[in-house]
Formats: sequence, structure tokens, C-alpha cells
Amino acid sequence: MTQSRSYSPADNHLSCDILVAGGGIVGLWVARLAEKAGLHVVLLEKDRIGCGASGGFLGALMPHMPERWNPKKQFQFQALATLPDRVAAIEAETGRSCGYRRCGRLLPLARPHHAALAGERRAAAEAHWDHPPHGFAWEMRQRAYAEGWPSADAMPHGLVLETLAARINPRLYVAALKASLGGAVMALDGEALDRFDDAAGRAITSHGRTIAAGRTVLAAGHASFPFLGRLLDRPPEAFGMPVKGQAALLDAKIDPDLPLVFQDGIYVVPHEGGLAAVGSTSETDFDDPFSTDGQLDTVIARARALCPPLAGAPVLERWASLRPKAVRRDPMVGFVPGHSNLLVATGGFKISFGIAHDMARCVLEQAEHGDCAMPESFRVEHHLGRM
Ligand SMILES: Cc1cc2nc3c(=O)[nH]c(=O)nc-3n(C[C@H](O)[C@H](O)[C@H](O)COP(=O)(O)OP(=O)(O)OC[C@H]3O[C@@H](n4cnc5c(N)ncnc54)[C@H](O)[C@@H]3O)c2cc1C
Repeated sequence: MTQSRSYSPADNHLSCDILVAGGGIVGLWVARLAEKAGLHVVLLEKDRIGCGASGGFLGALMPHMPERWNPKKQFQFQALATLPDRVAAIEAETGRSCGYRRCGRLLPLARPHHAALAGERRAAAEAHWDHPPHGFAWEMRQRAYAEGWPSADAMPHGLVLETLAARINPRLYVAALKASLGGAVMALDGEALDRFDDAAGRAITSHGRTIAAGRTVLAAGHASFPFLGRLLDRPPEAFGMPVKGQAALLDAKIDPDLPLVFQDGIYVVPHEGGLAAVGSTSETDFDDPFSTDGQLDTVIARARALCPPLAGAPVLERWASLRPKAVRRDPMVGFVPGHSNLLVATGGFKISFGIAHDMARCVLEQAEHGDCAMPESFRVEHHLGRM
């Protein structure tokens, strides 16, 4: 895969081992791991690194529920278990914090059947969440974790505290990852991957520049889907769709070590500095991807009811963006059918921050060796219904 390179950003023709299209959390991880493997990388970002879905502030790292265990859940579990070491390495290299903390998660139980289900899930967590040297806990409790965390009204049947969930500050994480890239990565902001000629192993950018790459990895978030649609002459929905989300950042002055709280689709995520991020909506029908509206007001009101210490906390920021959801909901990782040089890594949907490092590892292993061990449901063919 190794190619010679030319390294002036002013050149009209560049060459590299790996071309990455998209400077979100996934593309940054692909660039970082490729460089660590000794490859020369060009990272194309259409606009600005971290300006897409990865530029928010919610940062919940929430494991899938432990029952009905499957390869996807195992993949995410491994990724969540290894993330602290990956983050620590980036922080050590760059001297920057990523705002990571294994804070755990509270799941308030509102109905009797939630308590019964939580009991079954405890057994499943004990069976599957065993990670040396100590496993992760799934504890059932009758009292709030702390005053108003969560409200008594939210937990008439108790609550679960699980200790696998964590949080990270997306903006700090993206900035630290970007800072961790060294001289073997040429990052070109404001330049998009426009077309791809697989036979020639060559990409053409929005600036008309040609890039000869050993392999190209499309990590363009939701924009990957229309790109693949054009390339394979299919509708974008055959690959996936954007799902809008809205979130708010509150100056709650809470203990940043509190566990995150999740109930009925509402996340409350404590962050450093006493901030609390709350979210989020899931909208498939929207006019403006980046505006916030009354749906976010409802989320904020529900978050305040769930966690009364947020009552009265000023809203510092409202934010909206588009998550990439692949057609079969699982991440989409691997070779694009009919293309020997083009791979894709996207579709992390609501869990990208916890798994991006392993999505990147998998796509690079495939680029290097032709395949890697990963859930079959991640393959592009699976998404397209050919497996
Ligand atoms: C409100 C909200 C809350 C969320 N909360 C969480 C959470 O708590 N935990 C979690 O894990 N996930 C969360 N997510 C989801 C997560 O943010 C996304 O899944 C993740 O950021 C996707 O990363 P990505 O790198 O695939 O895409 P992106 O971050 O969107 O990056 C893609 C990049 O590609 C660029 N691009 C597009 N087209 C091209 C092209 N042709 N050439 C070059 N570059 C191109 C874009 O400009 C963009 O910068 C949330 C999302 C939203 C909207």
C-alpha cells in the first residue's frame, strides 16, 4: 500500500498511502492510526475539521443494553473498554484534555416492568461485561445517587447504576486528535473529495486537484451516503440517511463526577466545569439541519424535571447537527462493492464517539489486509442486502 508522496499543499497532484475524506471523529482516527502505522496520509475536509456531527458537546458514551448479546454489542463493549487507554495516549502526546471520565450511567425505573427488565439485564451484564482486571457493575438501587440526581418522581421503582458508561467532551477530543496528527498527515481544510476513479486509484478534489492514493477512506459522515449513491448509481437512502439531533449546554454548576442520566431518550451528561449537556432529538423530517427550535425547549424542560439541580441553570449554547445513520442502523465499515481502492467508515449514528477508534482500526486493517474480524452487519454488502 505504501506509495511515494509529494508534500506541498500547493501541488495539483498529490500522492499518499491513505486518503481520508472527512475530518470528523472517524476520519481523524483513521488519519491518526494510519500515521502511527507508518503511512503517509492526506486528510481532506470539505469545510473545517470537527464542523460536522462531531462538533457538539453531548459526549455520552453509552453501552448497548446487555441482553440479546451479539457481535455488534461485543464490538462496542471492546471499544468502550479500550477507549480510556486510547484517550490517555492522545492526552499524553498532546498535553490536551479530552474531558473523558468513566462516570457511569443512571437509569431511573419508572414502571414495574422496567424494574423486572433491569433485573434480567443485570444477569446479562454479569455474563457479558466482564473486562479484566475488574468487571463493570450493573447495580439496582432504591435511592437517588445524590440529591435530585435523578428526581424521586423519575424513579418510583428504583434505578440502575451501571459503571461501563462514560463521557467525553467532543470538542476537546476532536481538538486533541487533530493536535496529535504529525508531519505524515497533510490536512487540507476547505477541500472536498469530489469524485473517485477506482481503476486509476485516484481522487479528484473540489479544487480540481488529483490525489493518487493507495487506498481512500470515505469518512464524510452523512455526506458519505449521497457520495456512494452517485458512485454506485443508487439513491442515497440505499446507504443511509441523516438524522437531525438538537442538544443544549447548561451552566448547571453540578459535580462533574456525577453519573450521566438517561431516561426515555433524554440524556443528561455532566461535564468538567460543572456544565451539563442535555439532549437530544431524533428528527428524520426537518427543514434546517442546523437550527434549534421548540423541540429542544421540550428536551431541556424534560431534563430539568429528570434532574432538578438543572432547574434555573442558564443555557449557554443550543446546537444541532446531522448524525450519519446507515440503512441497517449499524456502522458501515469496509470496501465499497466493486471498488478495490475505496473503503467507507461511517454510520456510527448515536455511538460514534465510543467506537470511532475501532471503526478506524477495522477499516485500516481491511485496507492493508483485505479483511478484518468485525461484525458481518457492518459490511457494506450487508447494508445493501447482499449478505
Ligand atoms: C445532537 C447530537 C448529539 C449527539 N450525541 C452523541 C453522543 O452523546 N455520543 C455519541 O457517541 N455520538 C453522539 N452523536 C453522534 C455523533 O456526533 C456522530 O455519530 C459522529 O460525530 C459522526 O462522526 P463522523 O466522523 O462519522 O461524521 P462527522 O463528524 O459529520 O464528520 C464528517 C466530516 O466530513 C466532512 N465532509 C463531508 N463531505 C465531504 C467530502 N466530500 N470530502 C471531504 N470532507 C467531507 C464534513 O464537513 C464533516 O466535517 C450526537 C449527534 C448529534 C447531532
